[in-house]
Amino acid sequence: MESFGSVDGPGLRYIIFLKGCPLRCLYCHNPETWGGKEGEKRSSEEMLQSALRYRPYWKGGGGITVSGGEPLLQMDFVTDLFRRAKAQGVSTCIDTSGAVFSREPAKLQAMNELLAVTDLVLLDIKHIDSAKHKELTGMGNEHILDFAKYLAEIKKPVWIRHVLVPGINDDEESLGKTGEFVASLGNVQRLEILPYHRMAMHKYEDLGIAYQIPDIPEPSKEAVAKAQQILNTEAYQGYKNS
Ligand code: SF4
Repeated sequence: MESFGSVDGPGLRYIIFLKGCPLRCLYCHNPETWGGKEGEKRSSEEMLQSALRYRPYWKGGGGITVSGGEPLLQMDFVTDLFRRAKAQGVSTCIDTSGAVFSREPAKLQAMNELLAVTDLVLLDIKHIDSAKHKELTGMGNEHILDFAKYLAEIKKPVWIRHVLVPGINDDEESLGKTGEFVASLGNVQRLEILPYHRMAMHKYEDLGIAYQIPDIPEPSKEAVAKAQQILNTEAYQGYKNS
Protein backbone atom coordinates (compact mmCIF):
# COMPACT_ATOMS: atom_id res chain seq x y z
CA MET A 1 0.00 0.00 0.00
CA GLU A 2 1.02 3.58 -0.59
CA SER A 3 -0.96 6.20 1.35
CA PHE A 4 -0.24 9.30 -0.73
CA GLY A 5 0.25 8.26 -4.36
CA SER A 6 0.33 11.32 -6.62
CA VAL A 7 1.01 9.88 -10.09
CA ASP A 8 -1.41 6.97 -10.45
CA GLY A 9 -4.65 8.79 -11.22
CA PRO A 10 -6.22 12.15 -10.29
CA GLY A 11 -5.39 13.87 -6.99
CA LEU A 12 -3.82 12.11 -4.02
CA ARG A 13 -4.67 8.41 -3.95
CA TYR A 14 -4.41 5.36 -1.76
CA ILE A 15 -2.59 2.83 -3.94
CA ILE A 16 -3.00 -0.90 -3.41
CA PHE A 17 -0.42 -3.11 -5.14
CA LEU A 18 -1.68 -6.63 -5.82
CA LYS A 19 0.63 -9.56 -6.35
CA GLY A 20 0.99 -11.63 -9.50
CA CYS A 21 1.72 -10.57 -13.09
CA PRO A 22 1.75 -12.53 -16.36
CA LEU A 23 4.32 -10.17 -17.91
CA ARG A 24 8.03 -9.85 -17.24
CA CYS A 25 8.85 -6.36 -18.46
CA LEU A 26 12.62 -5.89 -18.70
CA TYR A 27 12.33 -2.54 -16.89
CA CYS A 28 9.76 -3.61 -14.25
CA HIS A 29 10.21 -1.56 -11.08
CA ASN A 30 7.96 -3.83 -8.98
CA PRO A 31 9.54 -7.31 -9.43
CA GLU A 32 8.52 -8.12 -5.85
CA THR A 33 4.93 -8.36 -7.15
CA TRP A 34 5.70 -11.09 -9.70
CA GLY A 35 5.17 -14.08 -7.41
CA GLY A 36 1.42 -14.40 -6.84
CA LYS A 37 1.30 -16.72 -3.85
CA GLU A 38 3.30 -15.29 -0.97
CA GLY A 39 1.61 -11.91 -0.38
CA GLU A 40 -0.35 -10.64 2.62
CA LYS A 41 -4.02 -11.56 2.43
CA ARG A 42 -6.57 -8.81 3.13
CA SER A 43 -10.33 -8.61 2.70
CA SER A 44 -11.87 -5.94 0.48
CA GLU A 45 -13.66 -4.36 3.47
CA GLU A 46 -10.40 -4.27 5.41
CA MET A 47 -8.67 -2.54 2.48
CA LEU A 48 -11.51 -0.05 2.10
CA GLN A 49 -11.36 0.87 5.77
CA SER A 50 -7.55 1.30 5.56
CA ALA A 51 -7.99 3.57 2.55
CA LEU A 52 -10.82 5.65 4.06
CA ARG A 53 -8.52 6.88 6.82
CA TYR A 54 -6.93 9.08 4.13
CA ARG A 55 -10.20 10.44 2.76
CA PRO A 56 -9.56 14.00 4.07
CA TYR A 57 -6.68 14.20 1.57
CA TRP A 58 -8.80 13.19 -1.43
CA LYS A 59 -10.31 16.61 -2.14
CA GLY A 60 -9.57 17.46 -5.77
CA GLY A 61 -10.48 14.08 -7.23
CA GLY A 62 -8.37 11.66 -5.17
CA GLY A 63 -9.44 8.18 -4.17
CA ILE A 64 -8.28 4.58 -4.54
CA THR A 65 -6.09 3.08 -7.27
CA VAL A 66 -5.43 -0.64 -7.51
CA SER A 67 -2.12 -1.43 -9.20
CA GLY A 68 0.37 -4.28 -9.16
CA GLY A 69 1.58 -6.55 -10.45
CA GLU A 70 -1.51 -7.07 -12.53
CA PRO A 71 -4.73 -6.21 -10.67
CA LEU A 72 -6.94 -7.92 -13.25
CA LEU A 73 -5.59 -11.29 -12.10
CA GLN A 74 -7.67 -10.72 -8.92
CA MET A 75 -10.65 -9.22 -10.67
CA ASP A 76 -13.30 -10.49 -8.23
CA PHE A 77 -11.49 -8.88 -5.31
CA VAL A 78 -11.11 -5.56 -7.13
CA THR A 79 -14.77 -5.57 -8.18
CA ASP A 80 -15.87 -6.20 -4.61
CA LEU A 81 -13.55 -3.50 -3.26
CA PHE A 82 -14.70 -0.95 -5.87
CA ARG A 83 -18.39 -1.72 -5.25
CA ARG A 84 -17.83 -0.93 -1.59
CA ALA A 85 -15.82 2.17 -2.51
CA LYS A 86 -18.47 3.49 -4.92
CA ALA A 87 -21.16 2.93 -2.26
CA GLN A 88 -19.13 5.47 -0.21
CA GLY A 89 -18.75 7.84 -3.17
CA VAL A 90 -15.01 7.14 -3.57
CA SER A 91 -13.17 7.59 -6.91
CA THR A 92 -11.82 4.28 -8.26
CA CYS A 93 -9.00 3.63 -10.69
CA ILE A 94 -7.22 0.52 -12.05
CA ASP A 95 -3.60 0.60 -13.19
CA THR A 96 -3.27 -2.33 -15.59
CA SER A 97 -1.27 -3.75 -18.48
CA GLY A 98 -4.50 -5.17 -19.93
CA ALA A 99 -2.62 -8.38 -20.73
CA VAL A 100 -5.32 -10.71 -19.38
CA PHE A 101 -8.19 -9.10 -21.32
CA SER A 102 -10.45 -11.50 -23.23
CA ARG A 103 -13.76 -11.12 -25.07
CA GLU A 104 -14.72 -14.66 -24.09
CA PRO A 105 -18.30 -14.13 -22.72
CA ALA A 106 -17.80 -15.17 -19.07
CA LYS A 107 -14.58 -13.16 -18.81
CA LEU A 108 -16.14 -10.16 -20.51
CA GLN A 109 -19.06 -10.25 -18.13
CA ALA A 110 -16.70 -10.23 -15.13
CA MET A 111 -14.78 -7.37 -16.74
CA ASN A 112 -17.97 -5.39 -17.32
CA GLU A 113 -18.93 -5.82 -13.68
CA LEU A 114 -15.57 -4.40 -12.67
CA LEU A 115 -15.67 -1.56 -15.21
CA ALA A 116 -19.17 -0.58 -14.01
CA VAL A 117 -17.59 0.47 -10.69
CA THR A 118 -14.31 1.81 -12.14
CA ASP A 119 -14.03 5.53 -12.88
CA LEU A 120 -10.72 5.51 -14.73
CA VAL A 121 -8.38 2.97 -16.32
CA LEU A 122 -4.64 3.63 -16.48
CA LEU A 123 -3.44 1.47 -19.36
CA ASP A 124 0.20 0.91 -20.29
CA ILE A 125 1.11 0.53 -23.95
CA LYS A 126 4.63 -0.80 -23.69
CA HIS A 127 5.39 -1.28 -27.40
CA ILE A 128 3.07 -0.82 -30.36
CA ASP A 129 4.83 -3.60 -32.33
CA SER A 130 3.73 -7.01 -31.05
CA ALA A 131 7.02 -8.84 -31.75
CA LYS A 132 9.01 -6.13 -29.99
CA HIS A 133 6.42 -6.08 -27.20
CA LYS A 134 7.13 -9.77 -26.73
CA GLU A 135 10.87 -9.14 -26.49
CA LEU A 136 10.23 -6.40 -23.93
CA THR A 137 7.58 -8.12 -21.78
CA GLY A 138 7.44 -11.82 -22.70
CA MET A 139 4.01 -11.50 -24.40
CA GLY A 140 2.61 -10.01 -27.60
CA ASN A 141 0.39 -6.93 -27.35
CA GLU A 142 -2.81 -8.22 -29.02
CA HIS A 143 -4.83 -8.50 -25.79
CA ILE A 144 -3.64 -5.10 -24.65
CA LEU A 145 -4.55 -3.25 -27.84
CA ASP A 146 -7.89 -5.09 -27.93
CA PHE A 147 -8.54 -3.98 -24.35
CA ALA A 148 -7.80 -0.38 -25.38
CA LYS A 149 -10.30 -0.75 -28.25
CA TYR A 150 -12.90 -2.27 -25.95
CA LEU A 151 -12.56 0.59 -23.47
CA ALA A 152 -13.06 2.97 -26.40
CA GLU A 153 -16.18 1.06 -27.51
CA ILE A 154 -17.77 1.43 -24.08
CA LYS A 155 -16.43 5.01 -23.72
CA LYS A 156 -14.58 4.35 -20.47
CA PRO A 157 -12.19 7.18 -19.55
CA VAL A 158 -8.56 6.09 -19.97
CA TRP A 159 -5.10 7.48 -19.37
CA ILE A 160 -2.53 5.80 -21.61
CA ARG A 161 1.02 5.58 -20.29
CA HIS A 162 4.17 4.65 -22.16
CA VAL A 163 7.43 3.88 -20.38
CA LEU A 164 10.14 5.33 -22.62
CA VAL A 165 13.16 3.00 -22.78
CA PRO A 166 16.14 4.22 -24.86
CA GLY A 167 16.95 1.93 -27.79
CA ILE A 168 13.84 -0.19 -27.20
CA ASN A 169 10.71 1.89 -27.78
CA ASP A 170 11.90 5.47 -28.29
CA ASP A 171 12.23 5.48 -32.09
CA GLU A 172 10.08 7.91 -34.04
CA GLU A 173 8.27 5.20 -36.00
CA SER A 174 7.09 3.36 -32.87
CA LEU A 175 6.12 6.56 -31.11
CA GLY A 176 4.27 7.79 -34.18
CA LYS A 177 2.33 4.53 -34.49
CA THR A 178 1.51 4.63 -30.78
CA GLY A 179 0.20 8.18 -31.17
CA GLU A 180 -1.87 7.18 -34.20
CA PHE A 181 -3.36 4.24 -32.33
CA VAL A 182 -4.24 6.38 -29.33
CA ALA A 183 -5.77 8.99 -31.60
CA SER A 184 -8.04 6.37 -33.14
CA LEU A 185 -9.61 5.56 -29.76
CA GLY A 186 -11.44 8.75 -28.77
CA ASN A 187 -11.73 8.04 -25.02
CA VAL A 188 -8.18 8.86 -23.93
CA GLN A 189 -8.07 11.75 -21.48
CA ARG A 190 -4.32 11.76 -21.05
CA LEU A 191 -1.30 10.35 -22.87
CA GLU A 192 1.81 10.28 -20.72
CA ILE A 193 5.43 9.36 -21.22
CA LEU A 194 6.99 7.79 -18.14
CA PRO A 195 10.78 7.90 -18.39
CA TYR A 196 12.45 4.54 -17.72
CA HIS A 197 14.40 4.67 -14.46
CA ARG A 198 16.93 2.37 -12.85
CA MET A 199 15.88 2.93 -9.24
CA ALA A 200 14.56 -0.63 -8.89
CA MET A 201 17.90 -2.31 -9.63
CA HIS A 202 18.57 -2.92 -5.93
CA LYS A 203 15.26 -4.81 -5.66
CA TYR A 204 16.50 -7.29 -8.26
CA GLU A 205 19.72 -7.78 -6.26
CA ASP A 206 17.71 -8.35 -3.07
CA LEU A 207 15.41 -10.84 -4.85
CA GLY A 208 18.32 -12.62 -6.57
CA ILE A 209 16.85 -11.91 -10.02
CA ALA A 210 19.19 -10.95 -12.88
CA TYR A 211 18.55 -7.40 -14.14
CA GLN A 212 18.31 -7.79 -17.90
CA ILE A 213 19.06 -4.26 -19.10
CA PRO A 214 21.86 -2.96 -16.84
CA ASP A 215 23.51 -1.00 -19.66
CA ILE A 216 20.47 0.95 -20.83
CA PRO A 217 20.62 4.54 -19.56
CA GLU A 218 17.66 6.58 -18.37
CA PRO A 219 16.35 8.87 -21.15
CA SER A 220 17.36 12.54 -21.08
CA LYS A 221 14.78 15.26 -20.40
CA GLU A 222 15.13 16.32 -24.03
CA ALA A 223 14.39 12.78 -25.27
CA VAL A 224 11.30 12.58 -23.06
CA ALA A 225 10.07 15.98 -24.28
CA LYS A 226 10.66 14.97 -27.90
CA ALA A 227 8.81 11.67 -27.45
CA GLN A 228 5.89 13.44 -25.80
CA GLN A 229 5.80 15.89 -28.68
CA ILE A 230 5.73 13.08 -31.28
CA LEU A 231 2.94 11.29 -29.42
CA ASN A 232 0.93 14.48 -29.07
CA THR A 233 1.44 15.44 -32.70
CA GLU A 234 0.37 12.03 -33.99
CA ALA A 235 -2.56 11.97 -31.60
CA TYR A 236 -3.62 15.42 -32.74
CA GLN A 237 -3.30 14.49 -36.43
CA GLY A 238 -5.29 11.36 -35.80
CA TYR A 239 -8.14 13.23 -34.13
CA LYS A 240 -8.05 15.85 -36.86
CA ASN A 241 -8.32 13.25 -39.60
CA SER A 242 -10.97 11.12 -37.91
S1 SF4 B 1 3.15 -5.34 -16.25
FE1 SF4 B 1 3.89 -3.99 -14.60
S2 SF4 B 1 4.19 -5.34 -12.83
FE2 SF4 B 1 4.03 -6.66 -14.64
S3 SF4 B 1 6.16 -7.00 -15.27
FE3 SF4 B 1 5.38 -5.25 -16.43
S4 SF4 B 1 5.96 -3.43 -15.28
FE4 SF4 B 1 6.14 -5.23 -13.89
